[in-house]
Amino acid sequence: MTVGCQPKGLWIAVLLVMMSLLTSGCSKPQPEFSETVFTFGTLVEITIVGVDEATADLAYTAALDDLNYMHNTWHAWQENALARINNLLRTGGSFSLAPSILPLISKAKVLSEQSNGLFNPAIGELVNLWGFHSDERDDSPEPLHEDIQVLLDAAPSMQDVVIEGLNMHGTNDRIRLDFGGFAKGVAVDAVIEHLREFGIQNAIVNAGGDLRAIGQKDGRPWRIGIRNPDAEGVIASLEISGDESVFTSGDYERYFEIDGKRYHHIIDPRTGYPAMGTRSVTVLHNSGAVADAAATAMFVAGPDHWKTIANNMGISNVMLIGSDGRVQITTDMAKRLQFENGYAPAVTVIDTSKHQ
Ligand code: ADP
Ligand code: MG
Repeated sequence: MTVGCQPKGLWIAVLLVMMSLLTSGCSKPQPEFSETVFTFGTLVEITIVGVDEATADLAYTAALDDLNYMHNTWHAWQENALARINNLLRTGGSFSLAPSILPLISKAKVLSEQSNGLFNPAIGELVNLWGFHSDERDDSPEPLHEDIQVLLDAAPSMQDVVIEGLNMHGTNDRIRLDFGGFAKGVAVDAVIEHLREFGIQNAIVNAGGDLRAIGQKDGRPWRIGIRNPDAEGVIASLEISGDESVFTSGDYERYFEIDGKRYHHIIDPRTGYPAMGTRSVTVLHNSGAVADAAATAMFVAGPDHWKTIANNMGISNVMLIGSDGRVQITTDMAKRLQFENGYAPAVTVIDTSKHQ
């Protein structure tokens, strides 16, 4: 068995080099500062443009505090605020909630419902069974089908998490919240909001290739690359400006292999097994949290059903690469994406408005 976890740092380096190459040659370079921190299982790079160094330093300190706080509070399998909530939810009794974590749970409920339950942060036990709860998976084999079946029969969902004011209770003793499917998006959003409070108007927060950018760089859009799921390198690039997030869910992010078969970390809540049929889904949307949850949900929905989820979640920019290499993109995304030289996939452009 091989245990796979790709060196994301390398990819961030590739994307950043690409960004700086593509934005070089502008007439008025503004001061630019960059800091990288390892958190949420990946390297997070924060680039700030157009403010003085003292402001950038203050903003970095605040952003790093934010990231550490969020990572420690939400990590699904550590003794922290979320572990307490998980234990209490399983008892069925009512308990009070720290106001800081309430918006996260409310948002997860809404996004889960919009995704028809395919984005389901209540399936932490399934994620655990597959060994993807820790940053490094050990070499345990595929879980037993009967253990998966027990959890499928219990069918924990976000509907089992009932919020009443500042109190909450659970209605399913197999709920275990795991926000790994959108925590990075929520974190990137929070950091951007905090940077804005420091008067920063141009910045990019890049968490291992998943990112949100505001403003521009030296008067030009930020240009970012989308990784090729099959090989090293970038398959396409796109320009983003104003306030936009780009998130990708891929079967190459975290996986292990047994007898040549790949088991990755995005679980289909309907089968209890890693979702089949998709290599990667890239979503462009204003909110990082929505883009992140939607990428995970559409990965599960797969090549034939993602359009319904895109519609329900209000997403119009999507690229899905199927296991067969077939690329589907929405009409809006087709206008934005530029495939790299030498990469000319068979692309189907989809009008999602026809999939209500
Ligand atoms: P990444 O974090 O690598 O960018 P995703 O955003 O797709 O990838 O999140 C995958 C993580 O989400 C898994 O490691 C697990 O913690 C959690 N997860 C797995 N399947 C689901 C699902 N169907 N719904 C919600 N969360 C999921
Ligand atoms: Mg996600």
